Amino acid sequence: MTNHPSKPKKEAAQFALQGISLGVAILFCAILIELNNLGLNFSVSSIITIHQENPLMWLMDAMPIIIPILSVVHRRGLSLIAQAKDLKKEVAERSQKINEQKIFYESLVNNSPVAIVTMDAYQKIISINDAFSNLFQYTEEEIKYKSLDDIIARDEDVVQAYKFTSQVLEGGKIHGIGKRQRKDGSLVDVEIYGVPILVDQKRIGVLGMYIDITDRIKAEETIKKSELRFRSLFHDSPISMWEFDFSNLKNYLENLAFSSPDELKIFLEKLSTLEKEFPTLITVLDANQATLLLFKAADLHQLKKEFDDIFIDQSVSAIQHIIISLYSGSRQIETEFTFRTLDNILIHTIVRLSLVAGNENNWARVYVSIIDITERKWTEERLRYLSMRDSMTCLFNRAFFESELTRLSQAQVFPISIIIGDLDNLKRVNDTYGHNAGDALICKTASLFIESFRSEDIIARLGGDEFAVIIPHLEESVVQKILARLRKKIDEYNTTQENPGMRINISLGTATAESNFETEELFKLADQRMYQEKNGKRK
Ligand code: GH3
Ligand code: MG
Repeated sequence: MTNHPSKPKKEAAQFALQGISLGVAILFCAILIELNNLGLNFSVSSIITIHQENPLMWLMDAMPIIIPILSVVHRRGLSLIAQAKDLKKEVAERSQKINEQKIFYESLVNNSPVAIVTMDAYQKIISINDAFSNLFQYTEEEIKYKSLDDIIARDEDVVQAYKFTSQVLEGGKIHGIGKRQRKDGSLVDVEIYGVPILVDQKRIGVLGMYIDITDRIKAEETIKKSELRFRSLFHDSPISMWEFDFSNLKNYLENLAFSSPDELKIFLEKLSTLEKEFPTLITVLDANQATLLLFKAADLHQLKKEFDDIFIDQSVSAIQHIIISLYSGSRQIETEFTFRTLDNILIHTIVRLSLVAGNENNWARVYVSIIDITERKWTEERLRYLSMRDSMTCLFNRAFFESELTRLSQAQVFPISIIIGDLDNLKRVNDTYGHNAGDALICKTASLFIESFRSEDIIARLGGDEFAVIIPHLEESVVQKILARLRKKIDEYNTTQENPGMRINISLGTATAESNFETEELFKLADQRMYQEKNGKRK
């Protein structure tokens, strides 16, 4: 409530002017009345006369001075009363506001979940809120005017507590973590804040705040423990484990802005150097001991340095699968993966990749485990090989021969030919020269078949001394030429054998299908022709 400073002066001048006018009017009236009373005319001598006759006239002369003075004084008195009223009103309003603020802050403190204690400048407790009571189990009456440090700090925490206190008393703010004691002696982990209460730069007290952090500390300890457990599992695991950052790969794909996974697939298939590109887009963060052993790296440094070398041509399809799966939103990917170790050995593995939760948008953390299945792969390969081969000659066996014939007929591969061969008089060779001689004859026949046919032809030993060949894609005339080549090879071989028991005598029959055929029929026809030849020889 501030008035403009020139305004009261202007008002006072107005009042003074009005007072002078009134004073002059009163004087003029008094002179006229007095002149009239004495029956005198208006003149200077008459005025002197009335002053001599009535001394009050001297007082009337002072009216133009007295009245303005009185009116200004009166006006000032009135304004002072008004000001006093305004002041009273303002004081009432302000104290109500202060009261409201007090209620507000008190309820804020009392309802705060944070334990709050207010102390005087000597660190004596003045008040505590409900949260403080609940946390430390004291009522306000029990601890009022006592020293806070003596009540809630144990001997071993007293040094820290006093340090905090003296810091706050010196006007500083404090923030720390410590243990404080409850009334029943139990300890509680608390986060402590202390702030001085200052009024006009003068410290009149201290505000202490305590937040119960027992749960937080427990949670942190649990996280720490599980992190340690994970680290130990990671490093001591017998399985190769890696931690990667794929964020560059993610950025790379985003910059290329594919409209669909199919578009990405086409792009990756066209990329001739994917196995070289891929390792430059991912970063090895960590790898365990089993990884170093598997990839024959001396240490993590060498593995990181020569990381690019473990990817080869055979890795490409697995790399494509991983990138497309990640791009399509998969978080867990499993695929067979062929790597090359740092000492240049191929290893077949199963790679399991998982995008760590929370990294779905940037691919910044990816865990990969690699299981070496090289031995299993070899065993499988060996079993597969054995399952379709004849153990004595290493030619295909009957089961494989039949399944291939069916497969080719279903695939409508034309023309297709079959050659059937059966050694003549093997029983007699066995009987005369022994079973081993018979075996040698079978093996030699197999090797002559291998020499005579192409790699895509299926050469099989159907059992005993019976051989069969499937020849796809060749005209009958060409097949006949191949057959002639076989016969020639056998003849050439026989001429080198002095022992007639070691000569190969075989009957052969062929059949060719130019279009749709019944496999059994084709087989039967070749077999018949082979027997025709055998019977002809017998005659
Ligand atoms: P044919 O001229 O009619 O073909 O008479 P073969 O003596 O060759 O007798 P056949 O083809 O009917 O039967 C095959 C014989 O070959 C039967 C068996 O004594 C012999 N044999 C079958 N498997 C083996 C083998 O693995 N090793 C040896 N040494 N002999 C076998
Ligand atoms: Mg035979």
